Amino acid sequence: MSIEQYIHKKWMRRAIQLASLGKGFTSPNPMVGAVITNKSGKLISEGFHEKTGTKHAEAMAFSNLKDDPAGGTLYVNLEPCCHRGKTPPCVDAIISSGLKRVFVSIKDPDVRVSGKGIKLLKDAGIQVHLGLCEEESLELNKSFIHRNITGTSFGVFKWAMSIDGRLGLKNGESKWITNVNSRSLVHKLRADFDAIVIGGNTLRKDNPLLTTRGIKKPEPLRVVFTKTLNFPKECKLWETSYSDTLVVYDSSSADEKYLKDIPKGVSVEKVPSDNPKFLSKILAQKGCNSILWECGPKLATAAVKEGCIQEFITFISPKILGGDNCMTTFSDFEFTSMTNIINLNFGEIKQINSDIYIKSLINKLSSA
Ligand SMILES: [Zn+2]
Repeated sequence: MSIEQYIHKKWMRRAIQLASLGKGFTSPNPMVGAVITNKSGKLISEGFHEKTGTKHAEAMAFSNLKDDPAGGTLYVNLEPCCHRGKTPPCVDAIISSGLKRVFVSIKDPDVRVSGKGIKLLKDAGIQVHLGLCEEESLELNKSFIHRNITGTSFGVFKWAMSIDGRLGLKNGESKWITNVNSRSLVHKLRADFDAIVIGGNTLRKDNPLLTTRGIKKPEPLRVVFTKTLNFPKECKLWETSYSDTLVVYDSSSADEKYLKDIPKGVSVEKVPSDNPKFLSKILAQKGCNSILWECGPKLATAAVKEGCIQEFITFISPKILGGDNCMTTFSDFEFTSMTNIINLNFGEIKQINSDIYIKSLINKLSSA
């Protein structure tokens, strides 16, 4: 790598780092950071997209300028926009700034942009270099890219289990398998997602609150996916002062007489079957780039079968629960041969005091 390439990489990594500060705040928008250097290569500004509805990263960087950008370089981790959304197009601002060169990590998969932003910059005589730090930028905005390409939300299924693979005892008792540090990591994790999904059984059995417990980020939408609509009168989720709650029900099986028991503050939508893909589509249409699935074995198995899950997060505790009929993570996938089973790749693995955290990946995203 030449010294020049090293320097360009350094500034793009800084743009990615700035972009990541928007994690949990920007959906349905991507996380974007921008760095501007002047014609001598000196840093003169930086900015990032802080949250939905506010200025884009490039516009933030232009409003923080400490020197004339003419002849300088912009580093941005996603293709600049060329459409008028809630804010004016960034491409126009870049062209009128007099910048000579733009480094872009990845194209914007949004059909309104998707290469058009880069073309407009090139047509205006600006040098555009695409692909710097591509891997890191894909990883950062994988949920946004996934939603744009598939029309469904990026799904992560999370569960906690004993070292012998049990989620709880035969009598249903499961509090607590993991240690207090793992549990507080779950609260932090939730804040990085746009929605958390559980099934009706989890609501009836665990009555969870599904909040981030004091993490200073917007609370994710709490979603119950149900076949019956038959819930206890007192549910912690109905307490909507914490965050919004949505009940999505299968209209082919649910008894709508129970709708009257759901409090007014809770939103309700119906889908034609219990296929979790319908749920993922509804949430994507609502602007949820990512979903954390915290459901039981039946819904988890269906979600994996339907391609709604892209990553798995497993907490493993060094405890033995034993038992033949204990709850396990998935129900029957009906595999009849080892050639048909699901193969994952380990991503991140770390120890959290006595527990182990494992992230596994089901597939890899390719560049948009
Ligand atoms: Zn923009």
